[in-house]
Amino acid sequence: MEGRLREFLAGSKLELGGGRDALGSGHWRYGRDEDGIGWLILDREDATVNTISDEVLRELDEHLERIEADLPTALVLRSGKAKGFAAGADIDALAGMDAEAAQGLLSEAHGVLDRLEGLSCPTIAVVHGAALGAGFELVLACDYRLAIEGASFGLPEVRLGLHPGLGGTVRLPELIEPTAAMQLMLTGSTAHTAKARDLGIADLVVEERHVRAAIASILRGEVDKRSRGLMARAFSLSSARSLAGARMRRETQKAAPKDHYPAPHALIANWEKHGDDPKAMRKAEIASFAELLQSETSRNLIRAFFLRRTLKQAADTADDIAHVHIVGAGIMGAEIAAWVAMQGKRVTVTDPDQEALGQMIRRATEVCEGAHKDALETRDTLDRLMPDPRGYGVARADLVIEAGPEKPDLKAQIFTDLGKRMKTGAILATNTSSLRLADLVDNAPAKARFAGLHFFNPPSKVPLVEVVSHDKTSAETRNRLLAFCAAIDRLPVAVADSPGFLVNRALMPYLLEALLLLDEGIAKERIDKAALNFGMPMGPVTLADQVGLDICLDVAESLSKSLETPIAGIPALLRDKVEAGDLGRKTGRGFYDWSDGTPEPETSSRIGEDLTDRLLLPMLNACAECVRKGVVGSADEADAAMIFATGFAPFRGGPLHYARARGHDEIHQRLKEFEKAHGPRFKPDAYWRNDTAK
Ligand code: NAD
Repeated sequence: MEGRLREFLAGSKLELGGGRDALGSGHWRYGRDEDGIGWLILDREDATVNTISDEVLRELDEHLERIEADLPTALVLRSGKAKGFAAGADIDALAGMDAEAAQGLLSEAHGVLDRLEGLSCPTIAVVHGAALGAGFELVLACDYRLAIEGASFGLPEVRLGLHPGLGGTVRLPELIEPTAAMQLMLTGSTAHTAKARDLGIADLVVEERHVRAAIASILRGEVDKRSRGLMARAFSLSSARSLAGARMRRETQKAAPKDHYPAPHALIANWEKHGDDPKAMRKAEIASFAELLQSETSRNLIRAFFLRRTLKQAADTADDIAHVHIVGAGIMGAEIAAWVAMQGKRVTVTDPDQEALGQMIRRATEVCEGAHKDALETRDTLDRLMPDPRGYGVARADLVIEAGPEKPDLKAQIFTDLGKRMKTGAILATNTSSLRLADLVDNAPAKARFAGLHFFNPPSKVPLVEVVSHDKTSAETRNRLLAFCAAIDRLPVAVADSPGFLVNRALMPYLLEALLLLDEGIAKERIDKAALNFGMPMGPVTLADQVGLDICLDVAESLSKSLETPIAGIPALLRDKVEAGDLGRKTGRGFYDWSDGTPEPETSSRIGEDLTDRLLLPMLNACAECVRKGVVGSADEADAAMIFATGFAPFRGGPLHYARARGHDEIHQRLKEFEKAHGPRFKPDAYWRNDTAK
């Protein structure tokens, strides 16, 4: 894209570096081409991705003032970054801002976008890559939107506990069918190119080389603006908005309950009340955005956003892995291979089972589809992904990932065989979930270059990867693996070779407590509901079924042998299920019946405080133990890992952040009470008394 973009801008007599005709320094450049068209290029200084800050908007305002004084034939807005139009607002600037400051800033910013909208020449936004959040709102203030194939548009502010604040809640429902606009904003989902065209967000979809022709055709009046449909007119009636609003509220409440996620509910209320009055809607948008920014939910979701960024930047070396060889094309290996190839690496894969290798290719196509890759990108991915039954790729690989069966003897044999063929300097990483690296290292070809790379199931959906070091793993190996994970768009967290590492160590006591409650006769729906009410994405009994009851049993057995603090005894029910072959989702039956798809979560039954604490405190206690023992570097990393591997209620900021908010003394006290009532598995960890960051 970068090459094509440079070519294009050069063709417009504008250069990325600021050409003869280009005016301005800073984040924008402006110049006119031979047809009198003004080109305003957003290209943030010192950043590879555009974000919209107050400085960016102030500079835009200055440009608009000059443009108003000397109007071009048309104004084209586009990005000078290869990666896309703009990723959204500058979150660093927003975080921690008080309500008054936020109101002031937003009012000013609205003024700039209104000025852009009010220009008396046609304005055209040309979008390649993503235009998200404030970036999309900027684009919405233009008369036309021209999408380059692959462009996407979205307002994901709800993911930060907010809603759009730069006029998006006003302009999007004016541009497209209002309920579709609300749907996009309420879910924070992205409209990829074809959908953006169907919805009416993009007036035209073109390839990069046809951009100038498309602009000319807009200026000749050949591109009709879509007229507002019947539905849009109907929603100028407040009774119609109330009716639709009630339905939206019901749907939203199911996915994002108001107590946990106030932003979408505030958005519905604003639309219901002011949907026919743009001026009042703007005022309401600014006021409610400023208020939401102060909410605990938004603070914690912004915290999760920063944690994600910290994990991505954890490596202090550049990624040097070009070729990855994967051993085992089962559930994990196949999808890891597909994901890694999709991210641009060369991948070879061995498996004695030919069928598994064939299925891997099918899986790769699905993974590409899930990531909205076009036919060309999918073909490129498949070109990079090579079934390699004889393992010729081993000798060329910079990294070998072992994802064979969870059997120590078999892994030992695989390692010995790899040792004969791996090239010097290559890393061997195992994907084991439940085995200690210390028990495998003796067969690894080079101890310093042996580590764990623990992906979670499914690897294309769960972003976290634990990078596991044993005693002899070198810092260089760990760093190379951290850099590799970041390069393949996963979130690495460095952990030590302790039983269950971090995530399974913390998750297992929670899952087992749920099964013990089940053993005690409490309905599975009630147990699951307790976790859902807390904000978990799925109940623990459903989760156990999803993970596979055989895998749960394996991990539980291996943990119970090796931990100093006891975990809950392994519930008889779990063994019975595994013995009966009811392994959960994969066999169609576990604790739930999965034969007709995912069971509906229970919504009616009553929960008690005790039930929620009984489930959660063992998880919190295990996280605390992991931080205290240095299994993970910090409480923040533990929180990030639990959010990005298990979906731990992100609006609570992570398990240890939640514990801090409740107070370590209270957590300690509750654990003591449970210890007395249920036994030593609840023994409070020393962390609660020692940690200085109370
Ligand atoms: P799986 O049984 O689905 O796949 C294992 C694959 O290895 C099979 O395709 C098998 O044919 C192949 N294989 C057998 N012997 C081999 C050999 N000598 N050389 C190469 N391939 C061989 O298992 P899985 O669930 O994909 O698990 C693989 C690893 O990933 C295990 O270590 C497991 O602990 C770990 N893991 C699994 C999950 C999960 O949820 N399934 C999650 C995280 C980690």
